[in-house]
Amino acid sequence: MPNRVVVGAQWGDEGKAKIVDFLTEEADLVIRFQGGANAGHTVEVGDQKFIFHLIPAGIMHPGKQCVIGNGVVLDPAQVLNEIDEVRSKGFDLDGRLWIAENAQVVLPYHKVLDQLKEKAAGKAAIGTTGRGIGPAYYDKVNRTGIRVGDLLEEASLREKLTRHVASHNETIQKMYGGEPLSADAIFAEYRELGRRIAPYVADTVAIINSALKQGKRLIFEGAQGTVLDVDHGTYPFVTSSNTVAAAACVGSGVGPTAIQQVIGVVKAYTTRVGNGPFPTEELGAIGKELRLVGHEYGATTGRERRCGWFDAVLVRRAAMVNGLTHLAITKMDVMDAFDEIQVCTHYELDGRRLDQFPSQISAVERVKPIYETMPGWKSPTVEVREWKDLPENARKYLTRIADLLEVPIGIISLGPKRHQTIQLEM
Ligand code: GDP
Repeated sequence: MPNRVVVGAQWGDEGKAKIVDFLTEEADLVIRFQGGANAGHTVEVGDQKFIFHLIPAGIMHPGKQCVIGNGVVLDPAQVLNEIDEVRSKGFDLDGRLWIAENAQVVLPYHKVLDQLKEKAAGKAAIGTTGRGIGPAYYDKVNRTGIRVGDLLEEASLREKLTRHVASHNETIQKMYGGEPLSADAIFAEYRELGRRIAPYVADTVAIINSALKQGKRLIFEGAQGTVLDVDHGTYPFVTSSNTVAAAACVGSGVGPTAIQQVIGVVKAYTTRVGNGPFPTEELGAIGKELRLVGHEYGATTGRERRCGWFDAVLVRRAAMVNGLTHLAITKMDVMDAFDEIQVCTHYELDGRRLDQFPSQISAVERVKPIYETMPGWKSPTVEVREWKDLPENARKYLTRIADLLEVPIGIISLGPKRHQTIQLEM
């Protein structure tokens, strides 16, 4: 198996975790490389269902190694909850879960600041999950962050926290009129959390590169999606990390030569959580039906997801900025419900045809999606396991998407479970 990056090629929630879990069968090591506990990643195997936030989706395969890479911002209490949950369901984690000692830590003041900022922004709010991810990345770039390894060095941890809590308290009190936090209390809590995660903390850059050298097969697991990338997304309505495939290198400590395939996970339609422009959003009955049939409610927050038809312009951009080699199309079964299906093939902007997703949000806000209508198939696909057994119109729909994007399809997902998957040549 080539080493693969798996990224979301839309606005997140594409079903990346299911695809990573499916592909882990052929892999040895799975690495999460960015983001934090701001999104849920759902894996269903047999009767068991897990919603991961930080632990890579590959953990459900006994014996396979998993790494939370340096590009992640880690909430230690959250990862410990996940560890307990995975253990309680009978999975052994000893010697197969590693946390980068140089990953950043999400601290209580990050969560407080996240929530205060969103509240103060009013109508301009980004729609964050309030879990402190943005402020934690801010501290990283500002060089005022605490890293996982720092939690294990008590004397310097106390000194750093004393300084950082004091400066964050200034902002919390003076800018937002909030309540100050206690450096002593945070120190006591995080020293203890540090002790508990210590068995998992390691130089993961060395672990990953040693696996590479031994010819082990790697999967780099992305979170969120391409149009939420801090550079390539609909800025400022984006997440605070780079979500594109290139971030796999930075967020895990390997060079670009380590990667041979980039798999873009896309739903057979489009969804978005949070605020910001969404050209193919359907505000009426179609949007409602997509939400209902596709169970489009956030796994972490329960928020309703905004829904619309497949937007080939947006995914074309994702194909470009990620260098996609394959598509994994998920939730094809959701399209079973429709008599007719629309695909956005291009946009119109000020009377001109646009084939590329604009990089300025002001243009994205003004584009008009132009659709092509395709016939539906109105028959269940959840049991289909081979391309040739898909309804003819479903094959036509998939072929049209691959043609519009000029990227071949590697995987088709027809249900949340591991076995509800068709793998094509990859
Ligand atoms: P991720 O963050 O990209 O991993 O995606 P989420 O876990 O937030 O959302 C995907 C949801 O869709 C989860 O509830 C999955 O169990 C579910 N899912 C994944 N693939 C399929 C599919 O092919 N069909 C259906 N019906 N559900 C799917």
